[in-house]
Amino acid sequence: SPDIRRHMERLAAEGVDVVRVQYPDLMGTDRARDVLLDHLPSAGEHGLAFCRAVYHTTPQGDVVPVPGGLDAGLPDVCVRPDLSTAVPLPWEPGVAACLGEVTDPATGEPAAESPRDLLRTVLARCAEQGLRPVVGPELEYFLLEPAPGTPTGWRRAPETTGAVYTAGLRADPANHLLRTLRLLRDLGLGVTNGNHEFDGGQIEINLTHSDALDAADRAFRFKAAVKELARKEGRLATFMAKPFGDAGGSGFHLHLSCDDADGRNAFDDPAGAHGLSATARHAVAGILAHAPALAALANPTVNSYKRFGPDTLAPWLIDWGLDNRSAMVRIPPERGSGARLELRLGDAGANPYLLVAGTIAAALLGIRAGEEPAAPLEGYGYDTARSALLPTSLPEALDALEADTALTDVLGKDFTASFLTYKRNEAERFGRHVTDWEFTEYAYHL
Ligand code: GLU
Ligand code: MG
Ligand code: MG
Repeated sequence: SPDIRRHMERLAAEGVDVVRVQYPDLMGTDRARDVLLDHLPSAGEHGLAFCRAVYHTTPQGDVVPVPGGLDAGLPDVCVRPDLSTAVPLPWEPGVAACLGEVTDPATGEPAAESPRDLLRTVLARCAEQGLRPVVGPELEYFLLEPAPGTPTGWRRAPETTGAVYTAGLRADPANHLLRTLRLLRDLGLGVTNGNHEFDGGQIEINLTHSDALDAADRAFRFKAAVKELARKEGRLATFMAKPFGDAGGSGFHLHLSCDDADGRNAFDDPAGAHGLSATARHAVAGILAHAPALAALANPTVNSYKRFGPDTLAPWLIDWGLDNRSAMVRIPPERGSGARLELRLGDAGANPYLLVAGTIAAALLGIRAGEEPAAPLEGYGYDTARSALLPTSLPEALDALEADTALTDVLGKDFTASFLTYKRNEAERFGRHVTDWEFTEYAYHL
């Protein structure tokens, strides 16, 4: 089409001869294919065929029996490059990356479990209420260096302690952060700043706020880019929730507000309780009410639940507070156009699209129901006498998701069925795995 030709000319003029077409699978993993520029017209017309099983394979390559997977003969999904999103990769001369639209070739409709389309569906529900969610992602990750001979082969680098909220060579002798920030800026991901976080080798980079789909796209591309850049340095960047027992976890905090039909921040109201509008309070109430189910999306691995706990700055209880980092929902101090909530629930391992979609769906349910949250907590938040516990395991969160029919009605039956099947399989596989801990704990004494 003329559109594709126009993009090809633009890309060729920028020295691009290969386009990496990336899309998120159900788990948020970046699936991709490198397409020679000359082949783009055909990829645009027919789409690139991917085996649908890539949504549903284990790390060992086994196919998880989700509905429409192996039982349907492992049909294709069709991925069409969206060349309006193509940006040259600043670290890979000649290569540009773009997002792909994932459809079911049988119907031409968005594929059942395409996370981007799930988010679009949720955003359409918001538009019916005259609301346009605005999202700002903050992501933490660990940067690991090779450690041959150790059980995992990787270690935190460096093992700096006390370098909380610093920048520079003290905690980052390889200058990873500076290099990464600049390259991500050149990629157009809207990164704003970064620092060394609480634990040795832990980095946080913040992204600017924007329309929810754009913000999820940027968070998805951010994770893929950071991992790729780390590999170029011979390192491993991991966004898993809690890679080490003796260090804090990595959060994926989401800042959320909503613009009304006039483009004004619908969360702000100088005359409202705490300077927040009724809409903002209802959104908080919805997130609190649906938190156990939301955890399944925000904390989607068996490892995720090891990040929660008292005194971790990760949440543990279902609560909210005004500028309180021990709460699951924190209301940052800014008001006016900056009035927003910060959901601290998600871990960095979450699929950005599912975290954003689930959070907005829960907020929307609260807004529709006109729910009011209990009084915000004051002071120390990790008090079980006051607030309910978040799920303590993945199976518990999955059961909560299945039971939360109000939320799953918004997310859709097909998505929910596939997600639950895949994740229950993951939890079962983990349940059968015998760990080192068990051997050390029991072998000598029992
Ligand atoms: N690492 C903490 C978490 O897992 C967050 C620390 C912070 O407040 O930046 O959410
Ligand atoms: Mg942080
Ligand atoms: Mg934060």
